[in-house]
Amino acid sequence: MKKRKINNSKQLFAIFGNPVSHSKSPLMHNLTFQGLNYPGCYTRYLLEKGEKLRETFFVLGLKGANITVPHKEHAYRACDHLDAFAQKVGAVNTIVEKEGKLYGYNTDAPGFLRAISEFDNVKTVLFLGAGGTARSTSAILRDEGYDVTILNRSEGRLQNFKEEGFKTATFESFEPASFDLIINMTSAGLEDDLLPAPKAILDQVIPSAKACFDVIYGKETPFLKLAKSHNKPTKDGSDMLLYQGIIAFEYFTDHQYGFDEIKSFMKRAFVL
Ligand code: NDP
Repeated sequence: MKKRKINNSKQLFAIFGNPVSHSKSPLMHNLTFQGLNYPGCYTRYLLEKGEKLRETFFVLGLKGANITVPHKEHAYRACDHLDAFAQKVGAVNTIVEKEGKLYGYNTDAPGFLRAISEFDNVKTVLFLGAGGTARSTSAILRDEGYDVTILNRSEGRLQNFKEEGFKTATFESFEPASFDLIINMTSAGLEDDLLPAPKAILDQVIPSAKACFDVIYGKETPFLKLAKSHNKPTKDGSDMLLYQGIIAFEYFTDHQYGFDEIKSFMKRAFVL
């Protein structure tokens, strides 16, 4: 942790997304600025055209930003400097301005890693879904030595994973095996009552799993309900969201505060 040297002029931060009205990030960061007595203020910005991200960032006079769906790849292209992991996965969710240059990071994946690290003895992981979130999180899991298999509804999005050497399958080609952790990486269950894969497949893989995780947060999805009916420990995506926010806050404030110190304030956004 660095020695605290806070510039007292107010710093402005924002989340860019479309839609963005549902985002918890302003509450998470503002509660933490307030708790730490840091002169920051965090707002939300509905960005319709991702190509306008860089220009909008500077017009608003921001010190930092988070980026959510569908602009993480635009954010990647908007930066002057990228950290090695953001460079590797091609997606940025956190930007910090320093001396007129934009520095880009991906805190989704390390936040996710920290959230699932709370399950013990996990080595093999089955991802249900192959979208943008699956891409960055599978990369960090592999870097950390986990064995990841990707199961997706359709073939198209599996191509990239195959090229990167992951084991992949569609519902039709899947051959059930034993996995320590099963993760819903899809949006199935977010605004509907769908399972992320056919129930017959889930009923084959869940019994031998140690735990099940869902990236969706704030509700018990059909996937988590099914996992509970098999008496499995479960976790939703709240910690993943909280931890990506804490890591982003560390970048925003130049690592002046420790993870647990930030957490003590940011977690209040989840009980209000
Ligand atoms: P994408 O749109 O990039 O990918 C969606 C994936 O879900 C695809 O693999 C798609 O399959 C699959 N899918 C969608 N609907 C269904 C369905 N009904 N049945 C089976 N598969 C389905 O999404 P993201 O990767 O950006 O986001 C995925 C989830 O992660 C979202 O629910 C989002 O809310 C959550 N999320 C949570 C975060 C947190 O902090 N907790 C952070 C970021 C995201 P196909 O290829 O066949 O279309």
